[in-house]
Amino acid sequence: MSAGMIPIAEPDLKGNEERYLLECLRSGWISSQGKFVTNFEKGFAEYIGTKHAAALSSGTAALHLALAAVGVGAGDEVILPTLTMLACANVVHYLGATPVLADSEEETWNLDPDDLERKITPRTKAIMVVHLYGHPAKMDRIMEVAERHHLPVVEDCAESHGAKVHTRMTGSIGTIGAFSLYSNKIITTGEGGMVTTNDATLDQKMKWMRNQCYDPPKRKLLIHNGIGYNYRMTSLQAAVGLAQLERSEELVAHHRKVAQEYDRLLAPVPGITRPPELPWARNVYWMYTPRIDAAKFGMTRDAVVESLGKQQIDSRSSFRPIHLQPPYPSLGGPGSFPVAERLGEEGINLPSGNVTTLDHVHRVVNALVEMRKSLA
Ligand SMILES: *Cc1c(COP(=O)(O)O)cnc(C)c1O
Repeated sequence: MSAGMIPIAEPDLKGNEERYLLECLRSGWISSQGKFVTNFEKGFAEYIGTKHAAALSSGTAALHLALAAVGVGAGDEVILPTLTMLACANVVHYLGATPVLADSEEETWNLDPDDLERKITPRTKAIMVVHLYGHPAKMDRIMEVAERHHLPVVEDCAESHGAKVHTRMTGSIGTIGAFSLYSNKIITTGEGGMVTTNDATLDQKMKWMRNQCYDPPKRKLLIHNGIGYNYRMTSLQAAVGLAQLERSEELVAHHRKVAQEYDRLLAPVPGITRPPELPWARNVYWMYTPRIDAAKFGMTRDAVVESLGKQQIDSRSSFRPIHLQPPYPSLGGPGSFPVAERLGEEGINLPSGNVTTLDHVHRVVNALVEMRKSLA
């Protein structure tokens, strides 16, 4: 990235990250053994409000292990929204199960509870809900549907650290919460993931599976009682994570402050719809993602991304729905999920990371306003 470029999202590592990392290095405990990983898990569970947490190597590993733990296997179906990152469908595929896509609803951009219910079949084994861009899905309705059909719910919280449904954190509402700690997420360990749950049996199972299913876990006898994975997190990552966790509410507050400034300045601009925050929700605005209505704004979203780029402002299009991605042609063609397709065409991620300043926000909004003027 060139020097003058306004980045879309960068980590803020100015707390105790360096201190804890040095402490970890000097202790010699750099693998997944030792106090940093267990302390990070304990602190993470406390923050989210669950009894247990297990640290992992990525958010994708977290989703994969969560689905494996609730028993998803060959021939099963998992229902998930089409508007999300491709990893969500891939983990279903890894297990030999079939991703069954559902449309999104406009109010939160997330899994439509009515379409979810329509997609349930006797083969449905689990529901995966995603809290996209930091706004929680309609969990009250989704949990009601899931409980009526006795289905476990995996919450993809990769973009929703600290987001709330009423007073409860995302990741504490469904059966298992799956977090990513990749470097552009709200809190990070560089690469990393975490699963949260109140179910001690599921927690034990995931901790067993992440470590090659060693049994007993002390490994002296080198017996594996199953086919597991190496999805362990290192102490080095956990040391960084502990420092990030200390500042999680501060980082969430920063994202909300940036969003508030965008909201205020974009309110009068025709053709731009600001991202939602429903009365029962705390949106953490992982990425500030408004919609560009091409007819009213005068330019398509793609043209806006390109024009911002020429002005040294980094932005992205919102996710391309899974059913329009090359690996999954069988999951539905164009027109099958109209709401998700529109959100995928109109959404734009504006710079809104942990180091985005209000001055950056002003420059981005000015660029958008000037773009419209030059069309008039
Ligand atoms: C980032 C992300 C993931 C994947 O997390 P990794 O840590 O990159 O494996 C999964 N789902 C969503 C919605 C994400 O944003």
